[in-house]
Amino acid sequence: MYCKKCGFEVEKDWSFCPKCKANLQDENLETNKEVILEKQRKESKGSNICICMFLINVIFLFKFDDYKWIFFLGALISIVTGFIKFQNNKIIKVMFWLFLTAVAIYILLILAIIITCGNALSRVDCSGIG
Ligand SMILES: [Zn+2]
Repeated sequence: MYCKKCGFEVEKDWSFCPKCKANLQDENLETNKEVILEKQRKESKGSNICICMFLINVIFLFKFDDYKWIFFLGALISIVTGFIKFQNNKIIKVMFWLFLTAVAIYILLILAIIITCGNALSRVDCSGIG
């Protein structure tokens, strides 16, 4: 018997997979290792496509400033899709959180600029009235 999630060889009476901690109910068990290997090959291909799409979009995002929102969306969609579809992929996980952190910092920076500009503007306005 093999764990369907990670392909680890398990005993039928085990309740959890020692490798990926999957609950070894019948739907998570597979007798044919080839089926699992094929699934893993497909997953690694799909996740590689997601990573490539993400990287290309990020590079274009910095290269073509005029279309940055399109490439930002492209990067966002490919990394979120990868994160949802290939949850076991560590590279996608790391990229997803890095991207999210970068976006959060970017938003905070914009907010900081708006707030400081807002303050500067109001100071200008006040001094104008005064
Ligand atoms: Zn497993």
